Amino acid sequence: ASEIQLFDVTKRYAGVQTPAVESVSMTIPAGETVVLVGPSGCGKTTTMRMINRLIEPTSGRITIDGEDTLSLNPDELRRGIGYAIQQAGLFPHLTVGQNVGTVPGLLGWSRAKVSDRVDEMLDLVGLDPAEFRDRYPRQLSGGQQQRVGVARALAADPPVLLMDEPFGAVDPITRGNLQDELMRLQSELRKTIVFVTHDFDEAVKVGDRIAVLGPRSQLLQYDTPEAILAN
Ligand code: ADP
Ligand code: ADP
Repeated sequence: ASEIQLFDVTKRYAGVQTPAVESVSMTIPAGETVVLVGPSGCGKTTTMRMINRLIEPTSGRITIDGEDTLSLNPDELRRGIGYAIQQAGLFPHLTVGQNVGTVPGLLGWSRAKVSDRVDEMLDLVGLDPAEFRDRYPRQLSGGQQQRVGVARALAADPPVLLMDEPFGAVDPITRGNLQDELMRLQSELRKTIVFVTHDFDEAVKVGDRIAVLGPRSQLLQYDTPEAILAN
């Protein structure tokens, strides 16, 4: 597991006056699940995308295990960070199996190992591999696509997971199962997880700590679910 630190991170998008993220400093301890909650537009997605360097901070620094993310090779950085997003973000021209196997393939795993891993991950997210492996994303529902997105993020067993409303489009029963599964995995694997949700119950359930962000991503509270509920 890896510790992630943000030091006074600000992001301004070109041509936009108001910062999307303003002076955020935060330590995400190795092996913990930190949930970001806050109003729409407060910079949650921007924060995630800065951690895996899809975008860069305007000022401030982000480190993973003490290393500035800007000093790392972006492709290598991203291979160690599973990223699951609400829209699933699957590659449309690749099958479900190829989507889930992308990063293990890039890492040079053998075909047989990738194939076994794909099936294991599909099982984990509740999709029968025999039925779904060879489908294309357009042949899946939104919730099924999301589950494939989660399977893809987990496939290479990365030390860090960024999950941006990963269960938002999933039906409530499956969502509960996926939350349970994530917590079970987490109790064994202790990955460092940054999880975004609008659902406060979900935040309390999956989070070791909750970061409550204000309208401009100011950190209003950063504490355990118990402490936040007590407030
Ligand atoms: P959240 O995930 O909390 O809903 P976002 O990080 O998506 O918030 O957005 C934070 C702010 O930055 C919003 O005001 C949004 O409109 C703005 N924003 C997001 N992406 C861009 C972009 N590519 N260009 C300009 N502004 C953006
Ligand atoms: P998008 O920005 O279009 O949503 P991403 O670039 O985030 O797509 O890719 C989605 C997933 O694929 C991520 O989980 C990421 O880890 C993986 N991925 C994409 N390109 C690479 C790459 N070059 N190396 C490692 N992983 C990658």
